[in-house]
Amino acid sequence: MPELQHAVDDVAAPELAADSVDMLDGAVDGQADFALETDLQVQDAVAALQQVDGIAPERWQSLDSGGRLEVLQNVEEQMAAIQGRPSVEVTPSELGAGTYGAFDGQRIMVNAADLNGDQPVGEFVDTIVHEGRHAYQNYAVDHPGFVTDAAVVGAWADNMAPGNYLSAEQYGQELYASQPVEADAWNYASRVIDGLGLPR
Ligand SMILES: [Zn+2]
Repeated sequence: MPELQHAVDDVAAPELAADSVDMLDGAVDGQADFALETDLQVQDAVAALQQVDGIAPERWQSLDSGGRLEVLQNVEEQMAAIQGRPSVEVTPSELGAGTYGAFDGQRIMVNAADLNGDQPVGEFVDTIVHEGRHAYQNYAVDHPGFVTDAAVVGAWADNMAPGNYLSAEQYGQELYASQPVEADAWNYASRVIDGLGLPR
């Protein structure tokens, strides 16, 4: 962000004022609004999840599956609060090997077999943040105006409409990962996990 850097470095009042006006103009635009809102959510998520004791790798290692489930529920509570939506239940489920989690419209499911395993904690937190982002997308589609960028919500709604969602099994990893709801969830969760510096 060279303009922002310039505004911070340069104390000359007229230039500072001009840059500030540019930034305000950008924020009025729906697209910039959504990007800014997402940036702030990611920042808040990193700050909040850093305080969750159980996601420190050595702490996670020492927890049984019940303790781990509590930690993951706590992660979901924090993310829901940051996103301004109701939280959902995190529940263990018999998912196929290689499937970390899913969102069924009401609950976040985590792979029950994995919960006892020694996958890195970042993988689990990534799953909760990713699936929770689907809960956010769902909430946005059900509550017009909740996310102000109508184009973004429209793309999510269209992607979620019956017959439009592309499963990885049927369509392959590339088409699956690049559809609107998955691209958004992958990108969002990656930014949070990278911000936390957790190994995956
Ligand atoms: Zn997904």
